Amino acid sequence: MTATGQTSARTRGTICSRSRWPLLTQPPALVSYVCAILAFYTVLVAVLARATVFHTCDLAMFGALTLCGAVCIEATRRLGMPAGVSRDLLSAWWLPAAFLLPPVYALLAPVPMQILLQLRVRATVLYRRVFSAAAIGLAAGAASAAFHHWVAGPARLSSGQGGPIVVAAACAVLFTVLNTALIAVAAHASDPEGRWGEVLWDRERVLLDAVELCLGVLVAVVCGINLTLLLLVLPPVVLLQRSLLHAQLQAAARTDAKTGLLNAAAWQREADTEIVRAQRTGNPLALVLVDIDHFKKVNDTYGHLVGDQVLAEVAATLRTQLREYDVVGRFGGEEFVVLLPGADVHEARRVAERLRVRVGRMAVPTEQAAVTVTVSAGVAILNIHGEDLLELLAAADLALYRAKELGRDRICLPAAPLAPPPRSADGAAGAIP
Ligand code: GH3
Ligand code: MG
Ligand code: MG
Repeated sequence: MTATGQTSARTRGTICSRSRWPLLTQPPALVSYVCAILAFYTVLVAVLARATVFHTCDLAMFGALTLCGAVCIEATRRLGMPAGVSRDLLSAWWLPAAFLLPPVYALLAPVPMQILLQLRVRATVLYRRVFSAAAIGLAAGAASAAFHHWVAGPARLSSGQGGPIVVAAACAVLFTVLNTALIAVAAHASDPEGRWGEVLWDRERVLLDAVELCLGVLVAVVCGINLTLLLLVLPPVVLLQRSLLHAQLQAAARTDAKTGLLNAAAWQREADTEIVRAQRTGNPLALVLVDIDHFKKVNDTYGHLVGDQVLAEVAATLRTQLREYDVVGRFGGEEFVVLLPGADVHEARRVAERLRVRVGRMAVPTEQAAVTVTVSAGVAILNIHGEDLLELLAAADLALYRAKELGRDRICLPAAPLAPPPRSADGAAGAIP
């Protein structure tokens, strides 16, 4: 796992400020953490290097594994690398180094590959690249030390006995857990309010970790039998790496970078498919267009970076309030669009109202104040207000316009406004009962 970028608006803002030393513009907790990890890594490399006898055969194996990693990087270079915490299968090369060579090699293995990634694939902020190398190196070093502690003689890994293979698998898990934890702490120090847990621990990522782990142990077993077998292992690993990057880039192309929701084009494609399905099956379907009220004021009062943060929080709130098969996207600016398959007019009103109330309760902490916003929403129902996506969008837009006209912080249908929310003592709109 490589941390080449952070996703929060706050962090992005800091990076955008032009500084010759981007690390120093980060929160003090992150600066201290990164410096501590780098210092620990450097001291450990120096101490272990002094204590290690460097044999030619070990150096040859290290060189061969590094070369395989370099071939992998070069073979996928043209595809590019998605921003954010990206995934690759390079641990297929440094896990064998961890199991078959003394621990100092595991510490050093990520260095040439991170240099190559920085020079040939994606030049990211240097401290992140260096931190990634140190985090992977420390995790691999710990896995290596654990493996050598439990298995006397790394050659036993390729002997066909189950014991060393099980230990290698357990040490590969240790590598993954440590690497993830080191990056998670950095992400948390960088943005304590961020949803970094989600970024690091979703189901897809755990599956990928399992694939990486299996691949690392298999390559180590093969490598221990005969180094030339790497020639047979390399092509399938390259192919896997290519398809993994391709999948990540495809996902990135569908996603709105600021909110993590579907972008307008991807949403429209998915919405079209759902509408065709609903027409075929005769199931109800609703569309909700959500617009943040007076969002320009938020930007004018707190600045665009806080505005971006509010957008991200609204998006997260919408997502948590919806079912997995609802299709939610950022339609543009401060407008979001939600498709509710299976929802009739009552269900759509209920959901839209819940979204309105939940966003209204949200408070985005900033240095100046906790920012709150309200939203207005227009609801349109398939076969009542429109027969296809364009008609539904037009109807929901009309309803949204009406909600704005009636004073905002409410939901409307195209034909007539829903019962206005009861007013509280200070005159603010409240929830529809
Ligand atoms: P209304 O209640 O009528 O919707 O008022 P509004 O201020 O929300 O709407 P208006 O269309 O006047 O302004 C929308 C603002 O949204 C203006 C624009 O600068 C801001 N905006 C659009 N996209 C982004 C973005 O990605 N980030 C930030 N921070 N602001 C954005
Ligand atoms: Mg608005
Ligand atoms: Mg708008």
